Amino acid sequence: MSEFDFDLDSIINTIKSKNYKTIGLQFPEGFKRKAVNIAKELENKTGASIIISGNPCFGACDIDTALAGKVEIMFHFGHSKMGKFNNVVFIEARSNADVLLCIKTALPLLKTRKLGLITTVQHIHKLGEVTKLLRENGFEAIPGKGDRRVSYPGQVLGCNFTAAHVDCEEYLYIGSGFFHPLGVAIATGKKVIAADPYMNTAEVVSHEKFLRKRSGYIAKAMNGKIFGIIVSTKSGQNRIELANRLAGIAKKHAKQVHLIMMDLVTPDQLLAFKVDAYVNTACPRITIDDAERFHVPILTPQEFEIVIGERKWDDLKMDEILENDVHE
Ligand code: SF4
Repeated sequence: MSEFDFDLDSIINTIKSKNYKTIGLQFPEGFKRKAVNIAKELENKTGASIIISGNPCFGACDIDTALAGKVEIMFHFGHSKMGKFNNVVFIEARSNADVLLCIKTALPLLKTRKLGLITTVQHIHKLGEVTKLLRENGFEAIPGKGDRRVSYPGQVLGCNFTAAHVDCEEYLYIGSGFFHPLGVAIATGKKVIAADPYMNTAEVVSHEKFLRKRSGYIAKAMNGKIFGIIVSTKSGQNRIELANRLAGIAKKHAKQVHLIMMDLVTPDQLLAFKVDAYVNTACPRITIDDAERFHVPILTPQEFEIVIGERKWDDLKMDEILENDVHE
């Protein structure tokens, strides 16, 4: 491994062994600061000519296909594989954080013996040692398989909790941030204990406040007459079939709906449209993370179904993109 947490030696070997001369590099926002140094190192060691993608990138769902089409091979950093691309290689990032300390902190919060074990790709290589520690303390940890959008058992994305579909009463999540454990709690309706290896904390995830907030947006959209259904052009986010289905149902309920197709979904890009609410079929995180920045409510597909009377309030589900929802 180089100083970059990425396996640059294997990239260099790939380039040299195939004698590639034109290389693309794509980094998510959090790793862009490393881009120039990595490009320089690859250039020096292989002599290949490098182009770095300057477009925003938030996930493996968001491949810079224009750049990939211009180079012999493109390396996409920071995410595990998603979709089928002939010349894109996914270079995962692995965290060196010690996860056992936060698991020890979580032990007193675990109330059942059989646990669903979930994490993000950064900590996936640590699941073996976590399972061992849990077993020594009398717990059986089960990482679920998940669908094709994830690469490893136990791996969750912000838009995919299929690896949490295991026979258990509660879940142990390893990672930072609230979104993934919250998603699992809502998707499964079960208790989730979130253990954060960076802060060495562990807590039971509470979703009441989150659901109250979402209920507020749903209530506000109930009075709406005109809705914009956002469809993404990104490779792993394009849910045009879902958007068409929602539009069809909404029209039956006498709602005026318009499909709006776009690449990067931002509040600024949508400010000018005269609609009463948006329905987001692009990355589900946008609906949650950026909700307060939109000038009108932005709803998940499931929330929109509640608004038009096709779903009950108490059947609110987390929005997920599953393997068959997109055609990559
Ligand atoms: S759709 Fe959103 S949550 Fe899912 S992989 Fe892409 S960026 Fe991440």
